[in-house]
Amino acid sequence: RAKNNGRGSAAFFDQEMDEHARERRALEHDLRHAIARDQLHLMFQPLVATAFGSIVGYEALLRWDHPEKGAIEPDQFIPIAEESGAIVAIGEWVLREACAVAATWPENVSIAVNVSTVQFQVPNLPAVVRDALAQSGLDARRLELEITETAFLRNRQSALKALHEIRALGVRVAMDDFGTGYSSLSNLKAFPFDKIKIDKSFIAAIADDEAARSIVRAIVGLGRSFNMPIVAEGVETEEQRQMLLDEGCPQAQGYFFGYPAANPFLHDSRHEIPDEELTGKARGEATR
Ligand code: C2E
Ligand code: MG
Ligand code: MG
Ligand code: MG
Repeated sequence: RAKNNGRGSAAFFDQEMDEHARERRALEHDLRHAIARDQLHLMFQPLVATAFGSIVGYEALLRWDHPEKGAIEPDQFIPIAEESGAIVAIGEWVLREACAVAATWPENVSIAVNVSTVQFQVPNLPAVVRDALAQSGLDARRLELEITETAFLRNRQSALKALHEIRALGVRVAMDDFGTGYSSLSNLKAFPFDKIKIDKSFIAAIADDEAARSIVRAIVGLGRSFNMPIVAEGVETEEQRQMLLDEGCPQAQGYFFGYPAANPFLHDSRHEIPDEELTGKARGEATR
């Protein structure tokens, strides 16, 4: 009986694996057409000054509207895109789209774009970034790339070269999800980042876990001595915001300040000013 059970669950396990692999292949296939079929779009989540809540920029977050499956989360399709190599074209689309959108925003608002480790290993990434800036007219100083430290696990020399080339364009580079990698501190020493984003797992624990709070305090201290601004990700409550403020963490991001949403500066100009407030000249132009 025990043996039967064992075989039975093994067979069930195989079947599940098949199902999983099939699902993955289907998504991989669909993902190849996602750009051409206009199924990708960006959402924008505010990055704020912790003390004032004033918006300093937005992070672009990718969304895939699958025709049958509906909205698919990036955590579900980015790994597939990375494995198949589709991330290179998708990442290029994200960069162009994000720069084009941000170029229409007020000049003091910056845009942060996530770049996959896989993109980071393609030698033409700096050229792709340069082109996205040139085509959109966006000032390089308003663009920030976010990479995780897995980008520095392999090919450290070429990763370092890419980092230097991108920063030479005037684009800032942030280390994303800081603290979750296996050698965060040595990477900070070896690679010149402009900013550190503390992973949201630390922020989630900060209110009830003294250890998490100590880690956040240490990271903020590190940022100060390395002259790298620190951003806290995943801030969901006023209590967390207050603690981060007390620890001296200058920037924050999270549902407490704003969810990822459509282009925040996109509105229909026809509804912007009530008609009677238009000057004669403007009214004349509007009806022409
Ligand atoms: P990330 O870059 O660390 O982005 C932050 C994630 O945390 C986003 O999830 C965001 O919606 C979520 N988040 C923001 N505030 C809160 C909060 O207060 N609480 C909680 N629990 N979550 C919060 P999202 O949009 O699902 O993206 C997940 C990950 O997918 C991103 O993590 C990033 O690694 C990747 N990703 C997203 N867009 C792109 C892209 O265009 N290219 C690449 N290569 N990766 C992307
Ligand atoms: Mg990010
Ligand atoms: Mg993150
Ligand atoms: Mg992440």
